[in-house]
Amino acid sequence: MGGLGSGAYGFMGPLVRKRTVEETMHLHIQNFKDHLNEKSLTYSWDKGKKSIRVLTKGDHIILSYYADKKKITTRANIDSTKVGYGKRLWFNCPSCETRTSRLYILGRYFCCRDCHGLTYLTCQKSGDPLDYLYLKIRRLQRKLGLENPNVNEIPYFKPKNMHYKTFAYLKSKLVDLQAKRDREFIKQCNMRF
Ligand SMILES: [Zn+2]
Repeated sequence: MGGLGSGAYGFMGPLVRKRTVEETMHLHIQNFKDHLNEKSLTYSWDKGKKSIRVLTKGDHIILSYYADKKKITTRANIDSTKVGYGKRLWFNCPSCETRTSRLYILGRYFCCRDCHGLTYLTCQKSGDPLDYLYLKIRRLQRKLGLENPNVNEIPYFKPKNMHYKTFAYLKSKLVDLQAKRDREFIKQCNMRF
């Protein structure tokens, strides 16, 4: 079995630009919907060169795979929200516990899009950078527990269930984005006047 995290896009590999969601291997909750009590499933990709074993336990799954020749075992909880008379299933990201329908592997670990700092191809290609930065900031602020913040607000308290390391990381990411947005704002003002 080929290890994950190897190759050009591997762990600490040469990154020339931000990776996009579209090019990152992921597990989708939809694939597990009808298999939550089947115990053991195997997923493979890259023509079978890479694979992952998933133990389903009803309310959580255990992922086991090799990355950089190391055996990795991670747990992801399964969460649900009500939709009409039914329910919608989600993963809880193993790192930040946020509900997500997809877990992406980048480097050695499966996490949500935000934890990996993934972006959408469409965002990189088109659109006003100011809008794009604004949306990213709001999303990050909500994740950090701010309900209706102004765009330059920074959280003081760590949300429950979030690791301190993740909190510190996301907070510094937020500050960076805010600075970037300020610069972009000034740039656009200069262009207008
Ligand atoms: Zn996450």
